[in-house]
Amino acid sequence: MEKVVIIGSGPAGWTAALYTARAQLAPLVLTGKQPGGLLTTTSVVENFPGFPEGVDGYELMTKMQKQAERFGAKTSFGVVESVDFSQRPFTLVVDGEKVVAETVIIATGAGHKHLGVHGEHELETKGVTYCATCDGALPAFRNQPLVVVGGGDSACEEALYLTRFGSMVFLVHRRDSLRASKIMAERTLAHPKIKPVWDSVVTEVLDLKQDNVTGVKLKNLKTGEEKVLPCAGVFIAIGHVPNTELFKGKITTDENGFIVPQQGTMTNVRGVFVAGDCADHVYRQAITAAGSGCAAAIDAERFLAAENQ
Ligand code: NAP
Repeated sequence: MEKVVIIGSGPAGWTAALYTARAQLAPLVLTGKQPGGLLTTTSVVENFPGFPEGVDGYELMTKMQKQAERFGAKTSFGVVESVDFSQRPFTLVVDGEKVVAETVIIATGAGHKHLGVHGEHELETKGVTYCATCDGALPAFRNQPLVVVGGGDSACEEALYLTRFGSMVFLVHRRDSLRASKIMAERTLAHPKIKPVWDSVVTEVLDLKQDNVTGVKLKNLKTGEEKVLPCAGVFIAIGHVPNTELFKGKITTDENGFIVPQQGTMTNVRGVFVAGDCADHVYRQAITAAGSGCAAAIDAERFLAAENQ
């Protein structure tokens, strides 16, 4: 039986692994389908402290893994198929095999919501991105027109951030008013470098032939008019989807599926803890995920220690 099983291998998962490994709990990390998590899809991470020149997302995650393994973390490239949290010890089915655990740390992260239009997937990392904080400062976007898609706080935040780099930021939204909080919406619309494009949707990202983003095709939903808006980058900020489907009906979530911890990082199930983006719709940064992974590890360690007294 495992003392600690960590589901997920992003910054939250590996930090939880590092701390529980150093507490000599020999955690088992189940990496899931995308070892290293969303960060491995980013090119350069420039906002993780300790890397003055920036660090490649994949490299950062590999280093986190090595650091955790150095202290005894065990890695399995398994995908969890089901969990039984109805009684302790907990049972997980991983690629058809049963894994039994005294405690579980859920660090399954979140995925970006996608538009699902032609060119979006193909041009990812070639001008299509889902994170202005991660990619906005890249040379390809400097002094170029940029497009942000969405009308919520995330889209406003991305657009405001991108004004530092782009020549102009076009905020494409499918309605004629922003969903974002009032203060954020006002700040966004008052910015001289942000131009809203109302009632419009992106129907295609161009240009596959050039293997780079050169613009977007837009359709005005009210008039039906279609046009091409040239740009060097498309920042899609239409929300996130937490990877919590597996825990539906077993762990308390909010209406959007984000896990809601009840006491520190402990969920409604005693012995099951949560860390990172699957419980965070506000900050969603590698460093905040890592911080919450540390907190979950300490909570799990103290939980086990209290039980064994
Ligand atoms: P959100 O509030 O759900 O907004 C998503 C936006 O994308 C909406 O404007 C929505 O349009 C649009 N959208 C959704 N699907 C679309 C599609 N398929 N095509 C085109 N547009 C689409 O998501 P969020 O902005 O990521 O914010 C999530 C939560 O985090 C919110 O509670 C927000 O307040 C919070 N947050 C807070 C901050 C902050 O306080 N600084 C920063 C970021 C996020 P409609 O408006 O038409 O639905």
